[in-house]
Amino acid sequence: IPAPDALEKHTPMMQQYLGLKAGYPDTLVFYRMGDFYELFYGDAEKATRLLDITLTQRGQSGGQPIPMCGVPFHALENYLARLIKMGESVAICEQVGEVGASKGPVERKVVRVVTPGTLTDAALLSDKSEAMLLAVHAGARNRCGLAWLSVTQGRVHLAECTPEELGDWLVRVAPSELIYSAGVTERFEKQLQGLRQSGNLACPLSPRPDWQFDAALGERKLLEQLGAASLLAWNAEGLGLAHAAAAALLAYAEHTQGRTLTHLHSVQVQRDDELIALPPATRRNLELLKTLRGEDSPTLFSLMDTCQTGMGSRLLKSWMLEPKRDRSAARERLAATEVLRGHQTAGAAPWQMLRAELKGVSDVERITARIALRQVRPRELVALAKTLEKAQLLAATGASPSSYLNQVFADTLPPAGCQALLQAALLEEPAALVRDGGVIATGFDAELDELRAIQTNCDGFLLDLETREKARTGIPNLRVQFNKVHGFYIEVTSSYTGRVPDDYRRRQTLKNAERYITPELKNFEDKALSANERALAREKWLYEQILDQLQPHVPDLTRVAGALATLDLLCTLAERSLTLNWCAPEFVSQPCIEIEAGRHPVVEARLAETSSGAFIANHTRMNANARMQIITGPNMGGKSTYMRQVALIVLLASMGSHVPATACRLGPIDAIHTRIGAADDLANAQSTFMLEMTEAAQILHSATPHSLVLMDEIGRGTSTFDGLALASGIATHLHDKTRAFTLFATHYFELTDLPVKARQAVNVHVGATESGSDIVFMHEIQPGPASRSYGIQVAKLAGMPTAVLYHARHTLAALEERAGEDRRQVDLFAAPEAPEPRAEVSLLQQRLLELQPDTMSPREALDILYALQRLA
Ligand code: ADP
Repeated sequence: IPAPDALEKHTPMMQQYLGLKAGYPDTLVFYRMGDFYELFYGDAEKATRLLDITLTQRGQSGGQPIPMCGVPFHALENYLARLIKMGESVAICEQVGEVGASKGPVERKVVRVVTPGTLTDAALLSDKSEAMLLAVHAGARNRCGLAWLSVTQGRVHLAECTPEELGDWLVRVAPSELIYSAGVTERFEKQLQGLRQSGNLACPLSPRPDWQFDAALGERKLLEQLGAASLLAWNAEGLGLAHAAAAALLAYAEHTQGRTLTHLHSVQVQRDDELIALPPATRRNLELLKTLRGEDSPTLFSLMDTCQTGMGSRLLKSWMLEPKRDRSAARERLAATEVLRGHQTAGAAPWQMLRAELKGVSDVERITARIALRQVRPRELVALAKTLEKAQLLAATGASPSSYLNQVFADTLPPAGCQALLQAALLEEPAALVRDGGVIATGFDAELDELRAIQTNCDGFLLDLETREKARTGIPNLRVQFNKVHGFYIEVTSSYTGRVPDDYRRRQTLKNAERYITPELKNFEDKALSANERALAREKWLYEQILDQLQPHVPDLTRVAGALATLDLLCTLAERSLTLNWCAPEFVSQPCIEIEAGRHPVVEARLAETSSGAFIANHTRMNANARMQIITGPNMGGKSTYMRQVALIVLLASMGSHVPATACRLGPIDAIHTRIGAADDLANAQSTFMLEMTEAAQILHSATPHSLVLMDEIGRGTSTFDGLALASGIATHLHDKTRAFTLFATHYFELTDLPVKARQAVNVHVGATESGSDIVFMHEIQPGPASRSYGIQVAKLAGMPTAVLYHARHTLAALEERAGEDRRQVDLFAAPEAPEPRAEVSLLQQRLLELQPDTMSPREALDILYALQRLA
């Protein structure tokens, strides 16, 4: 890009371009030129590379050729979608002035900036997930402030955390774009880069100037948004760092939308200690949203999501990923679900009737945001009107035993006058874009109707003119017609051109005919064409008026959107619980996880799909007296499945869902931690063993007696003795110190000795039976330790050659024999002996002990030797 000081050397258009581009240095600028968006210089080169389109030149400016590429305006969304996916941002620069209104190029302006975290276009957004923009501010004293929002939702979220916790927050929020205070501390920037490299942060990062992160400004902006005098009602006072992040967040969001976000109406403070912690490893290992291979299904979410609307699916995601420690919300949801499930007696259940209503409901949440941003399209407003009609009916639903459900129904009541306005104002099937006209309904505006009437009367006038002219000229095949290029004309075939009167003026010559215009026709043309233009302008103006009138309804529409999403999700929870045969969990205050006949919902569904036999249900009984299960048994026996099912049931219950079991009692839970080895650990830069130990250490530091901890095959990544020693150390620590509810699956048979000393640990194993030299897995959890490991039988199942199996059996027999002979009894779980107290040491000994022979020169050594001799 040429230097700005050289501006006057450029063409006027390039001067305009460079002036605009200066405001968006890191963003691709799409510069509108007629039917194209064009990119120049570095932008052109970059876009050519990313989009695989041709790089050309647009003449010269400032004595240099201008590299250029372009995309047709009607294909904009397609190109935007691709660029956004690659993490790029695009500034859309439109022609806003009248063509030819002044000398030089037509006035242009950047009307909006499309970035990955601030999308609002239905075409660019996924139905089922939010695009979140997150701002992070690193403050002094080792704290970070976070603020995030989805532009299509009406809420700003705030949180504060330590730098160590930041990674977990980032994974939880899963932003599509992150902005952070640049240059605050080097350490902070390093940390962000580190998170990015470890794959926990996969979105574009943009540094923003430090001064934008201003706590006082943030607070003021939030108060303005909320129209409130204090943040107390939102429990959002005194969070300076989060307010600072909010200042930058709102500034950036406004900058991209080109206006203030009038639809932001609430603030939600998320405190770490309100949510059940689901660290990144847990989300991954439990395959909540993605399988371990990174696919979208089968996962817990894909199994649960039968929602009728994108709003419902998005809400499901947030309930699933943000279960609360306090169980009152879960209780309310369960009670509401109970009502919707209905009784199995006559007719359709309430959830079925509601679902029929919710089918085809439009995305009120996003449409509302687009109303507030004045980006909404006519067809979206028509869809909104239809949905509000349904919502009105829902709001009239009678009282149920669940007051929460009644409130949700009541919240679907559309704002008064909104539907009436939309129905009166818009055609039932409007054009896609306002600029094409054909959007505003007849009867809504007298002036528009009149302008349209001129156009409709046009046909009558033309027919009349044709008859009159035929009579006047005596040309029998004379025709009066219109086309877009030449306007109105009278067509006369060549054979009759001799009869054409004097007042006919030639407009166009064809092969076999001439086209003429008369003063009368010209007069009419002017009137008709200007009526058309005026009607279009009037429609645009009226549309803006309608948007104005809709603005006061935005908060109510947001409420309706929330209620519809909740209803949809509650119906889904009811349907899933019935279809999958799940039961309602019970919450109690004493510490316990008690599950009767629990199942792993995703494995069970897979077994059913592939008809590979029934899922074997298992009980789980953990309480203050039985906090730890040491789980042994053969590979493939079902240990991982069992552990994960317990975690999934706890999570489902906590979000207010029914659970795959026949009964479930749950005490308070504050976190679900998992350490499960996965194949894709290998892809990670850290060594598998290092990662394993890092994750285990994090769990030991953060788990509490209310946490559920899953440990699968810890110690596997190192030598047998190391691994066994570490596994026993970790198990002992979890039992004695952490006292978390722990499921500890291990292939170290020696660990089954732990329950002898550890009172709250029990042995369980997955059953397997042998038939001949084959093995049959029972997938059943039984009390006591496993009797043996069946490794060779599993190898046989896997198709290992017979010769290898034969060799292995012999070796095993020999090893077992030898182990029996010299088995020294090692007590793994004995407390380590304290080092012996030091006896009194003489001065001579002390000097000797202080010596560091490695660092001494021969001469020093000799000197010290003489000195020691003197002491003796
Ligand atoms: P492990 O962790 O002991 O190696 P897994 O839990 O991975 O074993 O289970 C291996 C396979 O056995 C699973 O993929 C699943 O198909 C099947 N399985 C596990 N548990 C059950 C069960 N309770 N009922 C039916 N099949 C099961």
